Amino acid sequence: MDYMERLRDLKGIGEKTEKLYQKLDIYTVGDLLLHYPRSYQVYPPLSNYGDLKPGASVALLARLKSPAKVRKGRRMDVTLATAFFGDRSLDLVWFRMPYIRSQLAVGEAYVFYGKLEAEGERLKISQAQIYSPDEYSALMQQPQPVYSLTGGLTNNNVKKAVQTVFDSGIRLGEYLPQEILEGNQLASYEWALKQIHFPIDFDHLLRARKRLVYDEFFFFLLELGRNRLDEAPEENRHPITETAQMEDVKERLPFDLTPGQKKALADILGDLSAPLVSQRLIQGDVGSGKTIVAFLAMLACLENGFQAVIMAPTEVLARQHEKEFIRLCQEYALPYSVVCLTGASTAKEKREIQSRISEEDALFIVGTHALIQETVEFRDLALVVTDEQHRFGVRQRKILASKGQSPNVLVMSATPIPRTLAMILYGDMNLSVIRELPSGRRKIKNAIIRSDKKKSAWQFVAREVLAGRQAYVICPLIEASDVSEDENVMDYAQALKDFYGDQITVGLLHGRMKSKDKDKVMEDFASGKIQVLVSTTVVEVGVNVPNASVMLIENANRFGLAQLHQLRGRVGRGADQAYCIFIDSSDSEEISRRLEILVHSNDGFAIASEDLKLRGPGDFFGIRQSGDLDFKIADIYQDADVLQMASEDSKEILEADPRLVFEEHAGIRSFLERRRQEVYTNL
Ligand code: ADP
Ligand code: MG
Repeated sequence: MDYMERLRDLKGIGEKTEKLYQKLDIYTVGDLLLHYPRSYQVYPPLSNYGDLKPGASVALLARLKSPAKVRKGRRMDVTLATAFFGDRSLDLVWFRMPYIRSQLAVGEAYVFYGKLEAEGERLKISQAQIYSPDEYSALMQQPQPVYSLTGGLTNNNVKKAVQTVFDSGIRLGEYLPQEILEGNQLASYEWALKQIHFPIDFDHLLRARKRLVYDEFFFFLLELGRNRLDEAPEENRHPITETAQMEDVKERLPFDLTPGQKKALADILGDLSAPLVSQRLIQGDVGSGKTIVAFLAMLACLENGFQAVIMAPTEVLARQHEKEFIRLCQEYALPYSVVCLTGASTAKEKREIQSRISEEDALFIVGTHALIQETVEFRDLALVVTDEQHRFGVRQRKILASKGQSPNVLVMSATPIPRTLAMILYGDMNLSVIRELPSGRRKIKNAIIRSDKKKSAWQFVAREVLAGRQAYVICPLIEASDVSEDENVMDYAQALKDFYGDQITVGLLHGRMKSKDKDKVMEDFASGKIQVLVSTTVVEVGVNVPNASVMLIENANRFGLAQLHQLRGRVGRGADQAYCIFIDSSDSEEISRRLEILVHSNDGFAIASEDLKLRGPGDFFGIRQSGDLDFKIADIYQDADVLQMASEDSKEILEADPRLVFEEHAGIRSFLERRRQEVYTNL
């Protein structure tokens, strides 16, 4: 079996299942192997009579008392059963899983695993996982993979499919030279892939992870290095001079730019008027006001008769920029138009926008990836801004840059990275940092509460909303999962609708909605029609709705602190007092203590480094700081040491063999080429 083989050629996967996998961007056997577990579940020993703690996840060996019953509900089917745990009664409830009934036989002993609830003498578990005693004792030995899923696909389906690939004897050649493996004490590729899916224990898992993290960094840096080699300094063919109109807009803004904004703007204008093309990274915490800086820089280009592009990582953000730019043009009577190209534009719209982009100069161009995917010909592109850069690969930025006539590049990021890391990851860029937030902002008030207090949080949200403001509610999952008790957007939105009745409008948003629907929801939220927005982390980057004053985050313990900080940054953008409520559902005191950091600090950089100090090597499961640079498994904070190793190795190799022609680098070369092909075909 080969890496590139289609998923459908795998035993047990038909056309229908293949479609489900495609929703997760899994097309080939290789994609499946790279669908690393999201986290790992550790099954506890069977609980004894004495240690039944309500709220904890337990495994109970119990005997079924009577046949399971399915009750048809209006919204969903409910399956009910009772079992004996010793002489106590255990109530079991499953939602939307009517097929469970046929899996249970009266008198039979099963292990039921799930979160224990206790009502008086009665014990209860909802959505219990069911195992035979033998199955369970096998499970208990090893950490079990937990995958990201989509409706119709269970965790067990994915587990089995991955197992089938390994059983078929897939060949996963080693492509790293022996000396790199030995020098860094890295495991072999094949071993690492097997262990990342089915680890023997946590030590093995850590070793496997280190190898895969190394690979991600190593290849990223090799490519970065090779790109640099291919790039001679280019002449800046769009030199600009500042105009009175621009000064005038700056003067008439309703606020003074902060010193950091001023400095960043001056740096960019310096770049834009210099003889050589340049690239600059603008780092500024959430809310530091990067958008207006980008707008003014782009305006400078338009004033000189050139085009400028701003590219956002999501549809929602692109539309938001479009609206804001149109508003600014109207407000200051600027003689320019704004076009916005996204994947959701119709074919007709795309044609129209494309022809405008190829014909009109002095145009504000806004968009998403679609700006690279489509056959866009720019007329006279002077500047490319990528907003929230960590969502873009370096390669994508290059493709866009290559479409213009060597435009200047401006990258804006809210991810705080230490200088040493920035040197490795962005070594070829100039850096401007916006250190302060605009003055006059009120401090966000924070609270951490336990899950059983969530109703009072809902009431708090209602009070704010009825006073005219709006709220975000963030859930980790899109829809119910058979392996996770975490909250999901679908059910949560329904629960809130039931709770609030007609008095409050609840909307929902997640990444798998159609672009048009996402737009509509964001529009309705921005205009106030939707008052409470239940969403996944798609609102994490960039979204700006100043009237939103409450951020409620479910299962906050599931997220990295830097990510929570970004989410919190969605509120506190207006004049009203803002609140952020973290709901903590963890069993572990240490994780709860991590959340405390957020209450005490509002400095993204300090938060990221504090978080790291508190984390042990086993804590990475399911928690990532951010989606930096599209790494699948690597985390630039946590894996800074591996990044350093990969950086030294890649440098050494490129110095000795810039074109990778040496025999011992053949594996690396073909791997890079294959990746390049994959990326281009997936774009
Ligand atoms: P981010 O850096 O997170 O992208 P935005 O650009 O979205 O932040 O700006 C957040 C909010 O702050 C916007 O509503 C913007 O109008 C406002 N803002 C930007 N600069 C200033 C300033 N110097 N003073 C006051 N408000 C500002
Ligand atoms: Mg922004």
